Amino acid sequence: MIGKTKYYPEIRDYCEKIPIVDCHDHSGECEPRYTDPIRAIKSGYFTNDIQSASSEKDLRILDDVSLSLEERWPILEKTWKRTCHTGYAQVTKRVLKKFYGEDELTLEALKRMQNKLLDLSDEKTFDSILEDANIAVRLVNRWLIRDKILDGSYKLTPRARIVISLSNYHTVRSYSEIQELIAPLNIHITSLDDYLDACCKIFDIQKKFGAVAFKDLSAYERTINFGNPSREEAEKLFNLVMEDPRRNAAYPDEIKPLGDYLFHAFMHMARDMDLPVQIHTGQLAHMRNDIVKTNAIGLTKIIELHRDVRFDLFHANWPYSGELLYLAKNYPNVAIDFCWTNIIDPVYCQNMFKQALSCVPHGKIHGYGSDFLGSVDRAWAHAQIARDNIAIALSDMVEMEYLGLDEAKEVAYAWLFANANDYFRLNL
Ligand SMILES: [Zn+2]
Repeated sequence: MIGKTKYYPEIRDYCEKIPIVDCHDHSGECEPRYTDPIRAIKSGYFTNDIQSASSEKDLRILDDVSLSLEERWPILEKTWKRTCHTGYAQVTKRVLKKFYGEDELTLEALKRMQNKLLDLSDEKTFDSILEDANIAVRLVNRWLIRDKILDGSYKLTPRARIVISLSNYHTVRSYSEIQELIAPLNIHITSLDDYLDACCKIFDIQKKFGAVAFKDLSAYERTINFGNPSREEAEKLFNLVMEDPRRNAAYPDEIKPLGDYLFHAFMHMARDMDLPVQIHTGQLAHMRNDIVKTNAIGLTKIIELHRDVRFDLFHANWPYSGELLYLAKNYPNVAIDFCWTNIIDPVYCQNMFKQALSCVPHGKIHGYGSDFLGSVDRAWAHAQIARDNIAIALSDMVEMEYLGLDEAKEVAYAWLFANANDYFRLNL
């Protein structure tokens, strides 16, 4: 992508030189070692667009490596023709070009890829791609490595800082779930107070390990419109599931008061630990989910009440930009995080970057987060697209004499690096 004004090349060139903070990623013991060219093509989020343009059945065939490339190609070809212009497809095209030297997706290209598929589990390869992308640091959220973090044995992926996963601790609905969450501490939980103390210990250990934020993704399962129930209501539900290990509270409605109460309790902990809270809002990974429950505006009461907690709201609340612009403008404790969004919808981001500049203090914007499961090749492409989006937005604003060229560069620096460096206290 290129901007239409004469200021674009200089701003884009400047963006390339800025070391960037990757505000959200999921690397860690999941880095792919590609062995099948079709799987390498559909890796990451692009598989969702393939599914959207075809069917679950076609997706299963594409994934079936017992079938030859020739047998699977007709489905991929037909689907590619229907989806090759999305933001996710932009990632695929850039990966094809950069890492395999291919301009077009063809059966011949897939065959040529076969012998040079990337092994991203190799740390040197992994780090060299980060170096190429000029990604200085990454905030990594990975639930599956929690136990290793708690016992101190976890080896971070290159350039990673960890983020504490929050959702599982407040979406509990049974005795076994509660005991399992606390198991690394070798404590047996019998009461709500026990449980809250244990959660606090687990968060503290992770902070000592270097965690720079909390991350909550409960929007996948429940509404983020949290109520504010009394301790009595919550404790009644907690005791209900604890008194009979075979009992499961009905989810999400019956258990909601307990989840809501715990979420507030964790916000007090976030305040006391002085860690920002990253919250998933907007677009959901995987297909078929309810977007209404994820709109950031549902967090209004939480944001108003917990004024000493800093909220970093994810995915630019796609597709509800207006609500998030409102929240960021009107609440000092709200920042906008464009992680993942730059590839969900590049044009949305270009427009929202412009709009944010004109209504939200520019020091409250975090411009990039890769949000992949170890696919650092995709993170590289994503960083390129984020730089394009920011350069397009800012060069358009310079063209309309909204701000000067040097000021636009300062904003780009803030959005890609300085704001996140300060906000998460990365001390880079
Ligand atoms: Zn994520």
